[in-house]
Amino acid sequence: MFADLHLHTLFSDGTYTPAGLVDAAVAAGLSEIALTDHDTVDGWEEVSAHAEQAGLAFVPGTELTAELNGRELHILGYYVDSAHPELAGELRSAQEIRCRRVREMVARLNDLNIAISVDAVLEAARCRAPGRPHVARALVAAGFCTSLDEAFERYLKKDRPGWVPKPKMSVTKALRLIHAAGGVAVIAHPGLNHDDRLVGRLARMGFDGIECRHPKHSPAATARYEEMARELGLVATGGSDCHGTTKNRPTIGTVRIPRSWVDALRQRVAERRAEARKAAKAAKAAGPDAPQINAGADACPASPPASPPTPEAQESGSIP
Ligand code: AMP
Ligand code: FE
Ligand code: FE
Ligand code: ZN
Repeated sequence: MFADLHLHTLFSDGTYTPAGLVDAAVAAGLSEIALTDHDTVDGWEEVSAHAEQAGLAFVPGTELTAELNGRELHILGYYVDSAHPELAGELRSAQEIRCRRVREMVARLNDLNIAISVDAVLEAARCRAPGRPHVARALVAAGFCTSLDEAFERYLKKDRPGWVPKPKMSVTKALRLIHAAGGVAVIAHPGLNHDDRLVGRLARMGFDGIECRHPKHSPAATARYEEMARELGLVATGGSDCHGTTKNRPTIGTVRIPRSWVDALRQRVAERRAEARKAAKAAKAAGPDAPQINAGADACPASPPASPPTPEAQESGSIP
C-alpha cells in the first residue's frame, strides 16, 4: 500500500502517456498515484480513468512554478478544483507564457544558426505546457546535440545562449490560488532550494506540507524534512518526480510513501475546506457591509474525492 505523489506525463514535460504511467505505477507496486504536471491539469481525466481501470487510487495535483525573492520555487497543489475560475485563468496564463518562451528560445537558437523551428517543437510537444525539455528534444532530434543533458548544458541552462527567463507568480499568490481553489499546498523538493530556512518561512506563510521524500534528497535530508514537518505541524509527502525517460531511467518506484501519509493529506484538505466554509458563513452573518473574506473554497466539492480502498486494504483493514 504505497503511493507516489509526484509524477509527470506528456501533458507537460514527461514522456509517459496516461496508460504508460499507470502501467509503470502498477509495475512499481504502487497503489495510489498523483499526477502533478507543470502548470496544467490537462492529464487528470485520462490518468484517473486508467488508474481506476487498474485499481489504483488517483490524487489530482499540479506543480506550479513560483518565485520568492528572485528564487524559483516549485509548489505542489493537490485536490484543487480544476474549474475554479481564478486558478484556471492563472494556469492558462502560465501556459501562454510557456509557449511564448519556447518561441523566444527557438529564436535565440536560430540566431546561433541552429535551424530548428517553433512549429516542430510545439508539434512534437503536443501539450499546453511546453518547456525547455521540448526544445532540448528538438535539438537532439535535429542532430545539434547527442543528449538532452548536452542540450541543457550547452544551450538551455540558466545563462546559456538559448536560455530565456520565465516570468513567475509570487509564492504568496500561488498559495492563495491553491487554497482559494479548495486545495492544499506542498513545498516541492525543498532539498533543491539549498536553503532550509525557507521551509520555516513557507510554513509560516500557510503551506500545508513538505515533500520530504524525493530522489534528489539524501537519507539525511529526508529525515531532516520529516522532522521539520512534525515540528511545524505540516503534512509529510513524497514522490519520485518521474518524467518517464526524459532523464536516464524512470525514477518511478524509487520513492514511495505509506498510504497513511496520503490520508493525512486528505484530512488536511477537509480541514482547509471546513475553515473556508466557516469563514464564509461568518462573513455572511456579519452582513453585506462587512469586509469580504475570500470564500473561494466554498464553491468546491464539500469533501475531497475519497480514494477507493484497494481489495487488499479491504481484506486486511490496515493502513501501512
Ligand atoms: P522549464 O520549466 O521549461 O524551465 O523546464 C524545466 C524542466 O526541465 C524541469 O522540470 C526538468 O523536467 C527539465 N530538466 C532540467 N534539467 C534537465 C536536464 N539536464 N535534462 C533533461 N531535462 C531537464
Ligand atoms: Fe519537469
Ligand atoms: Fe519541480
Ligand atoms: Zn516535478
